[in-house]
Amino acid sequence: MFKKILVANRGEIALRIQRACRELGVKAVMVYSEADREAKYVKLAEEAVCIGPASSALSYLNMPAIISAAEVTDAEAIHPGYGFLSENADFAERVEKSGFQFIGPTPESIRLMGDKVSAKQAMIKAGVPCVPGSEGELPDDPVVIRRTAKAVGYPVIIKAAGGGGGRGMRVVHTEAALINAVQMTKAEAGAAFGNPAVYMEKFLQNPRHIEIQILADKHKNAVYLGERDCSMQRRHQKVIEEAPAPGIPRKLIEKIGERCSAACKKMGYRGAGTFEFLYEDGEFYFIEMNTRVQVEHPVTELITGIDIVKTQIKVAAGEKLPFTQRDIILRGHAIECRVNAEDPYKFVPSPGRITMWHAPGGPGVRVDSHVYTNYFVPPNYDSMIGKIIVHGDTREEALARMRTALAETVVEGINTNIALHRELMVDAKFMAGGTNIHYLEEWLSHHDR
Ligand code: ADP
Repeated sequence: MFKKILVANRGEIALRIQRACRELGVKAVMVYSEADREAKYVKLAEEAVCIGPASSALSYLNMPAIISAAEVTDAEAIHPGYGFLSENADFAERVEKSGFQFIGPTPESIRLMGDKVSAKQAMIKAGVPCVPGSEGELPDDPVVIRRTAKAVGYPVIIKAAGGGGGRGMRVVHTEAALINAVQMTKAEAGAAFGNPAVYMEKFLQNPRHIEIQILADKHKNAVYLGERDCSMQRRHQKVIEEAPAPGIPRKLIEKIGERCSAACKKMGYRGAGTFEFLYEDGEFYFIEMNTRVQVEHPVTELITGIDIVKTQIKVAAGEKLPFTQRDIILRGHAIECRVNAEDPYKFVPSPGRITMWHAPGGPGVRVDSHVYTNYFVPPNYDSMIGKIIVHGDTREEALARMRTALAETVVEGINTNIALHRELMVDAKFMAGGTNIHYLEEWLSHHDR
């Protein structure tokens, strides 16, 4: 096991990784920008290094600053968390070239999955079902583009190979709009992601977002830890996640889960990863793979009893997975609400000083958050300030626990989306389970403010 790990992230995930290190008896070096000096995990840290000013480009995305922080503190490994540099293959490569272990997959795996065209091709080869669409990148020839769209069937979606974070996508309903849409998406993709390549997929009308969590080691072992339903989204951003996914037959999940773990073995994948699918009419369609820990990993931890972050660290240190597929038993139901510093209905970010923070508790309640009373939420980063996660024997019990937890939660001084979560937890359709990816936006459009 490592003696010391550098945590190259901020916010609740930095605290989550620090906690995992403590339990493993590993020292955690925290890095922070000037705006994050007051964060809980910095105050709790045995060692912390300031890596630059508030701007992410100069701190959390600053590769030389992070690598030299690891050098001066004698860390052996770097955990990238999620976001920032976590899916940057060049960073993973520089980390390893500098003599540190990157806690994640190899740079080659990150690169393969980071390009959605190569990721899809790898999945097709591994027998993972994908959304029907173009065979790889779309060529420039309008005749070929039109022919492809006709074969796929309208509506289609044009997606950037290098896209991410819900950006670089355009839905096309008619042939008349096709060529212009392809050209615009290409131009935007070139400017935003430095890669103008685009591809085409059938646009699914009412899918759910279902994802499979996997864990793999360096010894060709891989398991899947069931699924998560992340269909409650706004602008392609997840708001509520749960596990298991309501109403999907176990047999279907097992079949797709087996495919995912087999694909990992085939690719020599190591570490944690998530296969994201759209699910419609009983079929799964792969859309992308995330090669890192995800925000919503706690719902899987609560139903499996497996600590995903500790396992990431163990497999990076070369240990074998301490369980096989047969040992993975799902118990009960878990729900996560992302707590954002924002207006609950207008979604305007609301940074500033938290004058009162009271987190909920009780059986089956987990709060992952780095904030506290008198903490100042900096305006420079993502608005998520924490997550409330509950576990119950049944989905009904989990819903009741979440309602109780949200009722206990007090946040003053800034706006949060807790009011929105309170309403959604008593919404009849959400309570029934199985809402699709458009449900939350439709609900919001009918909501009187
Ligand atoms: P990103 O990497 O930007 O998150 P994804 O490929 O994961 O991009 O897609 C993000 C979201 O866009 C999906 O969760 C879904 O809501 C929507 N989407 C993507 N592809 C399709 C498709 N073929 N049909 C319908 N919706 C899609």
